Amino acid sequence: MSYPRFRYIAPQSVKEAVEILHIAREKGEKAKVLAGGTDLMVQLRDRSEIPDLVVDISRIPVLQRIERMGSDIRIGPMVTHAMLAASDLVREYVGVVSEAARTVGSPQIRNLGTLGGNIVNASPAADTIPALVVLEAKLVLTGPDGEREMAITDFFKGPYETVIEADELLTGVIVPLPPPSGRAVFLKLARRKALAIARMNLACMLYYNRQREVFEWVRLCIGSSTPRPVRMTSAEKALEGKTFSDEVLQNAGAAAAEQMVQLSGLRSSTAYKKPVVGDFVMRAVRMAVEKG
Ligand SMILES: Cc1cc2nc3c(=O)[nH]c(=O)nc-3n(C[C@H](O)[C@H](O)[C@H](O)COP(=O)(O)OP(=O)(O)OC[C@H]3O[C@@H](n4cnc5c(N)ncnc54)[C@H](O)[C@@H]3O)c2cc1C
Repeated sequence: MSYPRFRYIAPQSVKEAVEILHIAREKGEKAKVLAGGTDLMVQLRDRSEIPDLVVDISRIPVLQRIERMGSDIRIGPMVTHAMLAASDLVREYVGVVSEAARTVGSPQIRNLGTLGGNIVNASPAADTIPALVVLEAKLVLTGPDGEREMAITDFFKGPYETVIEADELLTGVIVPLPPPSGRAVFLKLARRKALAIARMNLACMLYYNRQREVFEWVRLCIGSSTPRPVRMTSAEKALEGKTFSDEVLQNAGAAAAEQMVQLSGLRSSTAYKKPVVGDFVMRAVRMAVEKG
């Protein structure tokens, strides 16, 4: 097993890390940020990434925190999937993130792999992204000119492509606390149980008002099915204001499948994915309603 040659540096603060990235950019050098390395080491090994410099951010304590800040939970990008799965704060307030993190890879991958790496790598199969989309999370990017904040859906340009600049770090994930009435579900379809990267995953959060017998609001996001993570707004609209019934569920499933095809175009996988998307949506919505 051989890796390309590169210089390695482990800054102790965000400021130092950003300065290093900025200098590298000015010099025309390619720098790569290293978090847990579970994606990057594979990319270095197969030489799809050949950096001049690797900037290891694992020694910056401020990036490893999970804190409640008013009506938000702020999660540092160096928080691992294992930490997300174990955090009382995450489980209690934004449990769908912890559910998603629990399905990532194996215990070894969950101990090393981070939330920030999962987001910035921008794989369509990334498990935490649909959960963060339905929570309407915001990302904080820090660069030489300071911080900028954006909705998570604005971060992705396409598969493995984001708007992050070469001298920017993802420094925070801000998750607004969802209304307590919301019920959330995360589902994952994968080929194998162990080390299973999603063939499709889905996060759903909704409020079904049992007194009025209507879906008050619904948020749905399906991973590995659209070029970039988006809300399945047509399925959301097919549910909102309606009473729970098999017909309403079927309409929502069909609307999600149609939106997936519109966004992705017809592909060889469409014949398989279309019914699965519909079924996934129906299953998730039913499970969320059954949560009470
Ligand atoms: C065997 C195996 C199984 C896996 N199973 C799953 C799975 O089930 N579900 C899933 O979603 N993923 C899975 N993955 C993918 C991977 O583990 C996750 O995406 C993980 O969260 C990546 O985090 P990391 O810290 O290891 O990222 P790294 O590999 O360190 O970095 C990934 C990318 O993000 C960039 N980056 C990281 N942090 C920052 C930051 N703060 N600012 C700017 N750029 C940054 C890096 O430069 C790199 O381009 C699997 C990987 C393997 C090898």
